[in-house]
This record gives sequence, C-alpha cells and structure tokens, in this order.
Amino acid sequence: MAEEEKLDAIVVGAGPSGTAAAYTMASAGLQVALVEKGVKPGSKNVMGGIFYNHYLEQLVGEDWKEAPLERPIIDEQRWMMTEEAAIGLGYKNLRNREHPHSFSVLRAKFDPWFAGKAEEAGAFLIPETVVEELILKSGRVVGVRTGREGDLYANVVVVCEGIGLGSQLLVKAGLKKPLKPNQAAMAVKEIIALDPAVIESRFNCEPGEGASVECYGAATLGLTGFMFIYTNRDTLSVGGGALLSEMSDTRLTREELARRSPNALLNHFKGHQAIKPLLQGGETVEYLAKMIPEAGYKDMPKLYGDGYLVCGDAAMLSNPPHREGSNLAMESGRVAGETVIRAHERGDFSETTLREYKLRLDHSWIMADMRKYRSAVPLLEHNPQMMGKYPQVLDQAMDEFFRVDGVSKWDKQSKILRMFRKAGLFRMGWDTMKAAWIMLRPIHR
Ligand SMILES: Cc1cc2nc3c(=O)[nH]c(=O)nc-3n(C[C@H](O)[C@H](O)[C@H](O)COP(=O)(O)OP(=O)(O)OC[C@H]3O[C@@H](n4cnc5c(N)ncnc54)[C@H](O)[C@@H]3O)c2cc1C
Repeated sequence: MAEEEKLDAIVVGAGPSGTAAAYTMASAGLQVALVEKGVKPGSKNVMGGIFYNHYLEQLVGEDWKEAPLERPIIDEQRWMMTEEAAIGLGYKNLRNREHPHSFSVLRAKFDPWFAGKAEEAGAFLIPETVVEELILKSGRVVGVRTGREGDLYANVVVVCEGIGLGSQLLVKAGLKKPLKPNQAAMAVKEIIALDPAVIESRFNCEPGEGASVECYGAATLGLTGFMFIYTNRDTLSVGGGALLSEMSDTRLTREELARRSPNALLNHFKGHQAIKPLLQGGETVEYLAKMIPEAGYKDMPKLYGDGYLVCGDAAMLSNPPHREGSNLAMESGRVAGETVIRAHERGDFSETTLREYKLRLDHSWIMADMRKYRSAVPLLEHNPQMMGKYPQVLDQAMDEFFRVDGVSKWDKQSKILRMFRKAGLFRMGWDTMKAAWIMLRPIHR
C-alpha cells in the first residue's frame, strides 16, 4: 500500500479490545483494517474465562444475545485450600437466571463471532497476518509492517496486541518498557470434555446453568495467583496461574522450579482430593498457555502518542483480584474507537488530540479500579504467609471446631486461640487489615 492511500485506522489484534475498537470506528463509517495473526480471531487466544455481557451489550445492543457464550454463571465458589482441605465461600445468585451478567466463554468461538460483527459494521478483517513492527516517521506512528500484506498506512494505529512473548510491537518501537517477571502471571488451561448432565449434577446446576470455582492457597502451592474450574456447555475450563517471578525465582533449586512450572501446577491442582472427583471421567481436548498482566496502575505504559493508542492487556489494563480483563479490554477499545472518531472529525491525530483517550479512562471506572487495586498483587507477593501459613492455621482451627471427639467446646476454643497466637495473632490481624484496606478504601474518580 502506498502511503498516500492510507486508511483511517489500523487495529492490531482481534481480541476483545481490538475488535471493540474496530467495531466502534467502522460503525461511524471510518475505513478500518483489523489485523490478526491467528488463522482466525480466537485461534491464538486463551481466557479462563468468565465474560461480562454488559460491555458487549453497550457495543452491539440486543445482538449480544446471539453471541456464542457457554453458560450463565449462577454459582460462584471461592475455596482457600490446604493440601488436606478446602475452606469454601459459595454464592448462588438466582437473580442471574433472569438477568445474567456473566457467562463462561470459549474464545475460539466468541472471538470469530465478535470480529464478524466488526466486519458487518464495515471493518476489513485481515487474518493470518503478523504485524512485525510499527512504522514511525519523525517520532510519529504512521502505519504497520506486516509479513503477508506488506506495509499498511493509516492516520492512527490502535495497538491491541495483548501481552506475551509474541506481543512486542510497542517494546520494539521503544514505546513500552520490556515486561518484568513480577508484572505478569503465566497461566495455563485445559479444556476437558464432559457430559453436560454430569457437569450439572457435579456442580449443582440446573440444565444450561453454570458455576465457577476459584481456588487459592495450596491450589497454587501458595504462589500469588489462583486456579479455576469454569463450566462450559459440554466441557470444563480448568487452569490457573501465578506470578512469573515466583515461578522462575532463581534462588530455587531445579526441583523446586519444576514443581512450580505451569504444567506441574495444573497437574497438582487436578490431583487434589477435593478437585479430582469434579474432573473424573473427563477427557482433555485442548491445552493452552498465556500471560496475564499483573503490573498494576503504577507500571502501565503510555497509552497514547502521535498517531497511536494502546488498549486492553497491551495497556496492562486488568484487575486480577476480581478476575477481570476482557471487560477492561472491551471498554478501553470502545473509548479508543470513540477518541479516533473525534480525531477524524477534527482531522488531527496528534498526541494532543489522542490524549482525550487517557483523560476519559482516568475519569472512568477502569482507572478507579486500577488505582484501587494497585497494591493488591505486591501485597500477596511480599507476604507469602497469606497464601501459605494462614490457610493452614485456618484449616487446623476449623478441623478442631467441627470435630466431635469428646473434648469440651471451651477446651476447643482455648486450643484454637492458642493456634492463632502461635501463628502470630498480631501479624495476622495486621495483614488482614492491609488486605481489607485495599478492598474497602475509597478511591475517587
Ligand atoms: C488463563 C486466563 C484466564 C483468564 N480469565 C479471564 C476471565 O475469567 N475473565 C476476564 O475478563 N478476563 C480473563 N482473562 C484476561 C483476558 O483474557 C484478557 O484481559 C483479554 O483477553 C485482553 O484482551 P485484548 O484484546 O487486550 O488482548 P488478547 O485477547 O490477548 O488479544 C490480542 C490479539 O492480538 C493478536 N496479536 C498479537 N500480536 C499480534 C501481531 N503482532 N500481529 C497481529 N495480531 C497480533 C493475538 O493473536 C490476539 O488475537 C484471562 C486470561 C488468561 C490468560
């Protein structure tokens, strides 16, 4: 393509952020190319995952109901695990039958459908095409160099490449610092085929309804992260992850590192006596691995500049404690698309105009949440007792509390108190307060 024939916008990556940006711009009549390296959107994508339909509805209206989603999530389980127990918190929300807000999803099905919506709106999808680098002229992004289509030019490039070893465009262009191991989690996932009726009876669901089970503590060998089981129509998504820095800690022996490898972690979880019966008889049909951004607010890259915007995982927008990422991606893609539409109206794609994207995010729930949870991952990273020692003490206390064995309740209570004292009552209280502060502190937009 000659530079004079440039498009209005090029979007790199047809994940939730890229497709949302392309859909928004194409719906306003802009000429948009959506470039995706996978054979089709979704073929290279992994997510747990739980998908939040509100953001899709904001974009495509009632059409969201046609999206290939798996099961509405009616039942949410959170388990703190030790090697011999699972301490659970369950929430069955029957309102979700009428008004679901989250669904299990398989990205290999969802992404092509969503990209199809962008195509219907007028975006030009270019699959099987790797963007190799951003083309810069006098410090301004003017296009992309691709393996298959040659050079493509546009007024603005919206970078939605996700994160991972294969997503390096911004780093290569000097627009983002390379990822540090404590800024990402390595996650793996298996898709396990199981009869729908078996899924429903094991997870206590009505036909067509779904559940999520998320497990902490011994589930990840005490590492900062969590493991999960999500029920799909006729499969289970089973996986999880932990901070890359903890998986690859150079102070550990080879054997310890091997135990912490993503695959070993998944097998350890699947083999836990509380998990095994849920998976029994299932057949693994797919194995996938991907990174999750954990850098948080203070390590986000610059999100705009002359001729470019950055959205979704590439912008480090994620909220791991709440297992949210796809929604931040979709919302940031929409806001980026709207910013480009306004820049197009003004005929100005300079940094000054595109800064509106960051200002809008700053005043939205996205940055409010990013700021609120900025210390959540570091808190767990620097306090390994929270995912190791504390669950064990709680497990021992609950064992004592529930065991009926001829010991008086008074003696049991005294014993439980001694357990907590021995484990460091003051430190536990202090750590609990720090965690509660992160969750509850007010953050204004
Ligand atoms: C195991 C796991 C579980 C998760 N669970 C959840 C969950 O339950 N709920 C939730 O909301 N979020 C979850 N997430 C996070 C969620 O998947 C991400 O936040 C979301 O996918 C980010 O969307 P994105 O569009 O920014 O990036 P991606 O979805 O990563 O999309 C990037 C796209 O760009 C393409 N691409 C990359 N580089 C190039 C290139 N150079 N040229 C062309 N194309 C390129 C990729 O192929 C891909 O299609 C999970 C993530 C993982 C790994």
